[in-house]
Amino acid sequence: MSQRAPIEETVEAGGASIPKLGLGTWQNTGESCTESVEAALDLGYRHVDTAQMYDNERAVGDGIAAADVDREDVFLTTKLWRSNLRADDVRASTRASLDRLGVDRVDLLLIHWPHPRVPVEETLSAMAELRDDGLVEHIGVANFTREQYRAAREAVDAPLVTDQVLYHPYRDRSGLRADCEAAGLSLTAYSPLARGDAVGDPVLADIGARHGKSAAQVALRWLVQQDQVVAIPKATGRDHLAENRAVFDFSLTDEEMARVDDLRGSLWRRLKDRAPAVMRRVPF
Ligand code: NAP
Repeated sequence: MSQRAPIEETVEAGGASIPKLGLGTWQNTGESCTESVEAALDLGYRHVDTAQMYDNERAVGDGIAAADVDREDVFLTTKLWRSNLRADDVRASTRASLDRLGVDRVDLLLIHWPHPRVPVEETLSAMAELRDDGLVEHIGVANFTREQYRAAREAVDAPLVTDQVLYHPYRDRSGLRADCEAAGLSLTAYSPLARGDAVGDPVLADIGARHGKSAAQVALRWLVQQDQVVAIPKATGRDHLAENRAVFDFSLTDEEMARVDDLRGSLWRRLKDRAPAVMRRVPF
């Protein structure tokens, strides 16, 4: 396999330097996951996203170990599952994650979902201790609303370098993004291809045709072209991995960026159009 140039575009956020494009691994497990991670690193990816809940930390770690890339050149994220948010569980489950991943620290540890009953201060303080001990380089959150992210940032001294949230061309995140820009933090866009729905979008395909790019590449370009935004598309095979990686050799014009902005909300309209008549009466 030929080694490709590493992705050099990064977002600087609260002391972290996060590669703008990362590999998502949800629903990719076992050997398939190991092969995807190894292939992605070979293609120049330097950022891999996993979680305790994905049941693939061991496979992700095997992929990193198998790749011809130094561990310290890979930005590795994992996430604490909902059952592991009490202080003792933060410490024990992170050590178990490191063990499964086969590494002595992760670059980023996130709270996977806000919890209605575990105080966020308790979880974040334990995460900050792990940071002080060198087991995690940076800490952050996922699926927090703007308000929850603001409150969480006030609850701990260490910077919360990202809020990882659902963000793709059909989803408006202008408020959270403005907050991240103002605070010098990052917004990590998960499901950036709308879990595959953006791949067949006619507007994205039309824009892509002008650049010799696919609809998927336009969706990803639109994200990584925004300040402080990181995208983590999941792809399994080498073809998708290579296609998604090739989004740093073209730019969208302001008019094209605005056309993608205008797709907000249109996924629901399209799903509604495809639904049976009875469903079309439901106000999505
Ligand atoms: P996604 O990245 O939007 O879409 C993945 C789907 O798109 C897969 O079916 C994939 O197929 C397909 N695909 C990828 N590249 C393609 C291409 N170039 N052409 C055509 N199809 C393509 O969805 P996601 O997996 O939900 O989100 C990405 C990552 O975000 C996850 O894997 C996970 O790491 C993270 N995430 C985090 C949370 C959270 O709560 N924090 C929630 C959801 C996801 P193949 O696999 O066959 O390539």
